[in-house]
Amino acid sequence: ACAAFAAKRPVSQRLAAEASRVMPGGNTRTVLFHRPFPLRMVSGEGQVLTDADGLRYTDFLGEYSAGLFGHSHERVHRAVAEALATGLNLGAHHLDEIAFAEAVCRRFDLDLVRFTNSGTEANLMALGAARAHTGRSRILAFHGAYHGSVLSFAGGGTPVNAPYDIVLGEYNDVAGTEALLDRCGDELAAVVVEPLWGTGCVPGSAAFLSLLRRRASQHGTVLIFDEVMTSRLGPKGYSAWLGIQPDLKTFGKYVGGGMSFGAFGGVGAIMERFDPTRPGALPHAGTYNNNSLTMKVGLAALTEIFTPQACDDLNARGDRLRLHLDALFDRLGARLACTGQGSMIAIHPRRPAVRTPREAEQVDLRLRDILFLALVEEGFYLARRGYMALSLAITDADCEALAGALERAVLKHRDIFI
Ligand code: PMP
Repeated sequence: ACAAFAAKRPVSQRLAAEASRVMPGGNTRTVLFHRPFPLRMVSGEGQVLTDADGLRYTDFLGEYSAGLFGHSHERVHRAVAEALATGLNLGAHHLDEIAFAEAVCRRFDLDLVRFTNSGTEANLMALGAARAHTGRSRILAFHGAYHGSVLSFAGGGTPVNAPYDIVLGEYNDVAGTEALLDRCGDELAAVVVEPLWGTGCVPGSAAFLSLLRRRASQHGTVLIFDEVMTSRLGPKGYSAWLGIQPDLKTFGKYVGGGMSFGAFGGVGAIMERFDPTRPGALPHAGTYNNNSLTMKVGLAALTEIFTPQACDDLNARGDRLRLHLDALFDRLGARLACTGQGSMIAIHPRRPAVRTPREAEQVDLRLRDILFLALVEEGFYLARRGYMALSLAITDADCEALAGALERAVLKHRDIFI
């Protein structure tokens, strides 16, 4: 499969070698790396990506959920032009950040919000706020979670993580988490959790998430929902859709309209600590926090493109696709199953479907890579790990075509998938 991939992509191959001279492994974003060498894209239009060799792909990755609007959206481009017209980055407060902050607070039920440049930073700031608010230092996170490049708990953590005092629980393990909270609940500044585990698109169970809500309140601990990916799953975000309100929520990705973006916000009593007029106010700077591009484009994208109706329609399309693919795998007797919710879907080389990050980690990674390369050969782009985030540009016909490609891939490799 690797040889066939390489033979058709001499330009991507040459550029990978060139990139390696200036970036370690030719790479500045580890998640995009794959063997034999990463595809190098040159342009995107709607749901179609074109690579350096002139090959075209239907984009089901959707920039890991940040590319919700599809490529080269006319309204997004117009908002970029509007931002350019007033001059970039005035080094001062300006008009656009008020309207955008109002839209974000209203949309996601926040008393107050602050902007950052990435989801990573949003989580770092939310955790810092929780520590200052509670006067405690420990944080409960969950095995497998990804809250940013320095807050990654896949396989237990990485050497570049922020040096927080972290206790790791097991995602979706109600009894285990309860026991853990019995032991150290009173020491916790924060519990940080994705209401749906984004890496593998596994929903948190209602029992698990409501346990966290109940016990955080009981222990005086700040509950943080990382909605960097999941806020697209409901018109008012995923917490509202689930009916569970955390104390703080963090955001990123599509909310900035495709520009660099992060935000954290929630209950006034915590967020007010950042008010510079208060004695002992928490510092929060950041050169690009209120950059004109993100403020202007984010506002247009959130209020004019991703309307509540558009959100419901997109998630309904995702639910149909997930059920359709699972029915296909059933019919073929394939060792594949989907997880997900709405517009976030992952295909795992395992049946029945995985329910926890641990189960997702235990699958045969070779199967995952074979499926990825087979879909690339069919002209579909998704994450190597089987993750997809539908954009508004994806059509029902694209979903049908993906199902057809998956059926051919499974039958072609029937010895390993069936
Ligand atoms: N939290 C979650 C759940 C994410 O999926 C990501 C990005 N994949 C982040 C945080 C970090 O966001 P960013 O890449 O903008 O730093």
